[in-house]
Amino acid sequence: MKKLALHWKILIGMVLGIIWALLSSSLGWSEFTINWIDPFGTIFINLLKLIAVPLVLFSIIGGVANIGDPASLGRMGGKTLGIYLITTVLAISLGLGLVNLVKPGKLIDEQSRIDNRISYEIWAAAEGHEIKDGINYLQNPDFFERAQEISKLSKSELKEASFTDKIEKAKTQKSISPLQPLVDIVPDNFFYSLSNNGLMLQIIFFALFFGVCLLFIPDEKSEPVLVLVDGINEVFLKMVDLVMQAAPFFVFTLLAGVVSKMAGNDIGKVVEIFKGLSWYSLTVLLGLLLMIFVVYPSVLKMFVKKIPYLGFFKAMGPAQTLAFSTSSSAATLPVTMECVEQNLGVDKKISSFVLPIGATVNMDGTSLYQAVAVIFLAQMHMIDLSIGQQLTVVITTTLASIGSAAVPSAGLVMLIVVLDSVGLNPAWIAIIFPVDRILDMFRTVVNVTGDATVCSIIANSENMINYNDHDPTETFDLDS
Ligand code: ASP
Repeated sequence: MKKLALHWKILIGMVLGIIWALLSSSLGWSEFTINWIDPFGTIFINLLKLIAVPLVLFSIIGGVANIGDPASLGRMGGKTLGIYLITTVLAISLGLGLVNLVKPGKLIDEQSRIDNRISYEIWAAAEGHEIKDGINYLQNPDFFERAQEISKLSKSELKEASFTDKIEKAKTQKSISPLQPLVDIVPDNFFYSLSNNGLMLQIIFFALFFGVCLLFIPDEKSEPVLVLVDGINEVFLKMVDLVMQAAPFFVFTLLAGVVSKMAGNDIGKVVEIFKGLSWYSLTVLLGLLLMIFVVYPSVLKMFVKKIPYLGFFKAMGPAQTLAFSTSSSAATLPVTMECVEQNLGVDKKISSFVLPIGATVNMDGTSLYQAVAVIFLAQMHMIDLSIGQQLTVVITTTLASIGSAAVPSAGLVMLIVVLDSVGLNPAWIAIIFPVDRILDMFRTVVNVTGDATVCSIIANSENMINYNDHDPTETFDLDS
């Protein structure tokens, strides 16, 4: 009998996990699931992250050193960052297009939107933000009572609040240089960066630095280091193989845990959570699904040609299903590398350089979601963002997605920066928080698929995909 492909086994694990969670929730066993099943999911993510951090370090060192000469490295580096940037801007534009078309924030009932608007004006007044769009409910006598109810301020306090110039601003001006993000990339203590998963950019910086210097020292000195680095990489890949043997079970426990935490002992809660945010969730989902099933395959068809539509999904299935269940591109990275190398036939020289960087800086799904979220939150507060502000959104979401760590919910936390950049209340992330985990699962699949797509494009342009030995319709066999 033909063995079931790994991604099917993972999918079955996922479905069983959801079914288990729904059953246990209706039988009142959610606590049992959370206490006794969910921890295995955490073990799985820990194992994957345990491999991912050193793998990023050694695979980039190996990748850079194996490229051979500094000129090719410069060309590859430029191409990698350039194409990553293009796909991110493409994703943001798609998100902005959809959210302006569907207008999910305007589909909320009028009274709630007016209430939202009033709370926004109170917040803006307290923060000393100027409101430029001409609406001002705080100064409108018709809404005065409502404003009082919402803000729980007295009449005189509220009157004060409606004149921004009279507000005492207790804002502490932080003196952070605009170059701070750049400073943060350069570690002063590399071991500190290694012990903090969030500092992946610092690890990448160190690895690139180390790899480049390796290129410049005499061969007889660099050779043994390279042999060691390559050997270490092999060990990590073996670790991935071993962990992935148990992936279907682990994925079952992960999904059972996630859904149980959402549902508690009342399945109805899941439905409730989505009701109010359904149009927003659908808009994000539509954008993400378009990226996975239309945008990336079209880009691949244009630039790579030889990878068939279904073949690509079959090849990337294990990484995509894992991204979905772990919500972490970092945890998925070892498997993404294995899929791209073994199933798509991309040369290790390319994948070991392009993919670890991609997992950290290229997050198309995250940026698309952030763009939709900001505009949605503005719409539900009756705020129309100008073209200039939407352009600011494009720039800050690009930067925020680069800065987001490849772990669950990182995109939601970075949304704070994006909201802040256009003068909106960062606390609004609480509004979309209830549905975030599910959207996170989908956007992580997009992030991982985007990395693999760009990696294939670069490999193809460098003539480094081996189409003959690798049939993408045959997925890698972990037992071999
Ligand atoms: N979970 C995402 C990832 O690891 C990041 C995000 O929260 O959007 O790719």
